[in-house]
Amino acid sequence: MDAEELLKLKIRLLTEGATLSEREWSGRQGGAGPVQGRYFFLPNGRSCGVPIRRGSQAERFGSATLEPTEDPTIWLYDGSVELEIVPRPKFYDLNTDDGIPYHKIALLHGSETLATTVYQACRYWASGTQCKFCTIPHSCSSGATILEKTPEQVAEVVKAAEDEGAIRDVLLTTGTPDTPDMGCSRLIQIIEGIRESSEIPIGVQFEPPTDMEIMKAVFEAGANAAGIHAESADESVRKEMCPGKHEYGSLSLYHKSWAYAIELFGPGNVSTFLLHGIGESIDSTIELVDELGSMGVLSVVAPMRPAPGSQLADFEPAYLGDLEGSVKFYKRVGAILLKWELDPGKTAAGCHRCGGCTPIQEAYDWAKAISHG
Ligand code: SF4
Repeated sequence: MDAEELLKLKIRLLTEGATLSEREWSGRQGGAGPVQGRYFFLPNGRSCGVPIRRGSQAERFGSATLEPTEDPTIWLYDGSVELEIVPRPKFYDLNTDDGIPYHKIALLHGSETLATTVYQACRYWASGTQCKFCTIPHSCSSGATILEKTPEQVAEVVKAAEDEGAIRDVLLTTGTPDTPDMGCSRLIQIIEGIRESSEIPIGVQFEPPTDMEIMKAVFEAGANAAGIHAESADESVRKEMCPGKHEYGSLSLYHKSWAYAIELFGPGNVSTFLLHGIGESIDSTIELVDELGSMGVLSVVAPMRPAPGSQLADFEPAYLGDLEGSVKFYKRVGAILLKWELDPGKTAAGCHRCGGCTPIQEAYDWAKAISHG
C-alpha cells in the first residue's frame, strides 16, 4: 500500500468508521471484538482508532463492514483490507494496591501510549457551558473510571505497563477545575509520582493558565510535551461549540501560551487539537496550521467524532460524504507539516505521537513521499 492509499484508508476509517455484520452484533456482548471502537494496526504499523457504528448511524456515515477471519487477530475491512487488532494489554487485569482495577486508572491509546484523565470532571459542566462534543463525566458515572487518580495509582500502572513492554509514552489530561492553575498543580503531582520510578516520556494537556509560570513548573516536574488545545481556528466555531472554554480563553491567549510552551518543550513537542468537520472554514484552519508550524507547534487535526452522551451525539460532520475533500484537506496539512519539519512520529509523547485519532502522520508521510518524487 503506497503513501496515498494509506492516507486515504486512514481518513476513511476515521471519518466513516466501520460496522459489524448482524451476525457479529447479535453474537457479541462486549468481549474481545471491536464493539464500540477499537484500535487496529494499519499496514504501515501505525494504529487507528476505528469508530464502530450500527444501524442508521452506520448508514449515515457510510461505514463499510469489519469481518472476523479465521485468525482472531485479523479483521477484514470492506472485504479486502486486512487489519490487525491491537491486543488487549495484560496489565488491564491487575488491581492497584488500594484495589482499583488498572483499566479504571489508565488505558492504552493506539498501540503504545498510556493515557489517563487525572481529574474526570470539568468546571464548564457545572455551568452548562461545556464543550458540545464532551463526555467527561459520563465515564465516571458509568463506573468505567474514578473521579480523581492519585500519583501513586498512576505511577503503579505506568510501571506495570512499562514492565509488560506495552507502552512507550504516557499522556496525562485533565478536566478543568475551578482554580486559576487550570489543573496544572494536580498534573505536577502526578508527573512527580511517575518520575519516582520511570523516565518514560510524558505528554500533558491543559487549558492555557493565566499565570504562565506554572507551565514552567510542569516542565520542571518532568513533562516532555504539552498539548494546549484551541479545538478550532474559528472564534465563531469555538464560541458555538466550546462556550465555556471560549469565554475563558481567546485565541490570542492560546498564541501566548503556545509561544511560551515552545521555549520550554521545544519545537514539535507543543501541540493543539483542531477539529475537522465541526463547521470550521478549511482555509482559516490551513492558515493557522501554517502559522503554528512556523512557531514549531504541531496541529493535531482530527475528524470530529459525534460521541454518544455528548450534545453532538447526532451531529452530522461536514466531512460526511466528501472523502475526496477530506483527502485534499489532509494533504494540505501534511505538506505544511513537512515544510516546517514537524514529523509527528518524532515528537516525545501525547496525542500527536499516538496518532490513533488523526491522519496527520500519514499526511506527513504522503507529503514526504511526494517530495522525493
Ligand atoms: S474543557 Fe471542554 S472538552 Fe475539556 S473537559 Fe471541559 S468541557 Fe470537556
